[in-house]
Amino acid sequence: MLLGRKQLLINGEWRDAASGAVMPVVNPATEEVIAEVASATRDDLDATVAAAREALAGPWGKMSARERGRLIWKLGERLMEKVDEVARLETLHNGKPISESRHVEIPMAAECLQYFAGWADKIQGDTIPVKGNALVYTLREPLGVVAAIVPWNFPLLLAMWKVAPALATGNTVILKPASQTPLTALAVGQLAIDVGFPPGVFNVLTGSGSTLGQLIVEHPGIDKIAFTGDTSTGRGIMKTAADTIKHITLELGGKSPNIVFPDADLDAAVRGATVGIFYGKGEVCAAGSRLLVDKSIKDQFIAKVAERTKKMVAGDPLDPKTRLGAISSKSQLERVLNYVEIAKSEGASLVAGGSRTDIGTGKGYFMQPTVFADVTPAMTVAREEIFGPVLAAIEFADVDEAIARANDSIYGLAAVVWTRDIKKAHYVASKLKAGTVWVNTYNVYDTAAPFGGYKQSGFGREMSRYALDYYTQVKTVWVDLS
Ligand code: NDP
Repeated sequence: MLLGRKQLLINGEWRDAASGAVMPVVNPATEEVIAEVASATRDDLDATVAAAREALAGPWGKMSARERGRLIWKLGERLMEKVDEVARLETLHNGKPISESRHVEIPMAAECLQYFAGWADKIQGDTIPVKGNALVYTLREPLGVVAAIVPWNFPLLLAMWKVAPALATGNTVILKPASQTPLTALAVGQLAIDVGFPPGVFNVLTGSGSTLGQLIVEHPGIDKIAFTGDTSTGRGIMKTAADTIKHITLELGGKSPNIVFPDADLDAAVRGATVGIFYGKGEVCAAGSRLLVDKSIKDQFIAKVAERTKKMVAGDPLDPKTRLGAISSKSQLERVLNYVEIAKSEGASLVAGGSRTDIGTGKGYFMQPTVFADVTPAMTVAREEIFGPVLAAIEFADVDEAIARANDSIYGLAAVVWTRDIKKAHYVASKLKAGTVWVNTYNVYDTAAPFGGYKQSGFGREMSRYALDYYTQVKTVWVDLS
């Protein structure tokens, strides 16, 4: 085993699970078990919650906001010092190209820590004029113990979107990474120890969602769940969290429309259409999985998208030149290939890809990037989140139909508009029911800009100053001056 056995991070110490149980971690590009991680259960969780609660009243709770910010900044700095090592782990357990982990996602995770480090000493209340002779002011206080439950598609980045604002606002954190991709969360746990976080402030528990995840959501000692993952899991979390009235934020699935008008820069839109769906192998909640094209340009546009798609070849994720890595697991590959069969049986036309592929090793869960044309809005491939490199092209007749088709989804995470007409761009952006609208670009993020969903894509916002509201509670203080 390449990376050996990993323990749980509880109260600043590495420990085996109380039960001694472990889970394998598989490299989806080679199908090899590369590590074993501890599988935490109730006893481990109870110990972690006790440590995280104690830390709120300990040195962490007493630390000045500025000092807290400095520590979070240092964690970001240390993460960048270790970027090669951490990016390699991200690629090994997820199958994503090293170019994405090394040059995009781990640097973004470090930047997220440093962005929120800057906020730590700028979180303020108000003084409020009221009737009578009283001084009324508000304090913004931490919620307490925050559990971050994250998926396998952007393992470290989505974790830091939660951990960074939670720490900056003075909470303590229990991070539960996805079972498939626990290695980078554990690596950052060690960096937190190295830079001097007090015990109990940042804990990492590995274990299965259906047991450990469920116990976390039920636990009365946890104040908030910050979750990214499947909409059905989010629905369950919402129900379970009701029993203890926990704060929750949910970043869930998507079926994002990528709308191309005939007056767009069509070459740029072709690039946007492919990057929008094939970055991260399409295992992206905001993937532009529905390509809506004006029917007057549909045939030529889809032909260009198909041509570009056929040039994208899956490769060894550790090769810096690879742009399409391995699907994250065998079950995810099977799920995506099943959607391909459903699309064919429902009458969509396969114009690129559609099959499992091989990079010459005979191993690994690789798939050809896939494009379907002649998709109608009622087809399964146009409605369900596939979470793989599969694009469904749908035509529209005019602006109103484009908007109606774009909004015809239970999801509302992101949407894109390609046009040179500035009025049309703003008009369509205002009508789209989505948390993020990109105009003439795709897949751009910045820690300063909020991200989150409309409709069943969830609620709450990650990144930006908006995120701070979801990790603090407001206390109103009245002082009688009469
Ligand atoms: P899940 O939503 O099940 O997993 C996300 C996280 O939640 C993981 O850490 C998981 O743990 C945990 N979890 C699972 N069940 C529970 C529970 N009952 N209570 C608390 N935590 C839980 O996604 P999957 O990994 O199962 O993927 C299934 C599908 O979800 C994908 O095919 C894709 O379509 C979609 N998905 C969407 C994402 C998005 O960002 N929109 C992200 C990931 C998946 P564990 O890993 O141990 O199961």
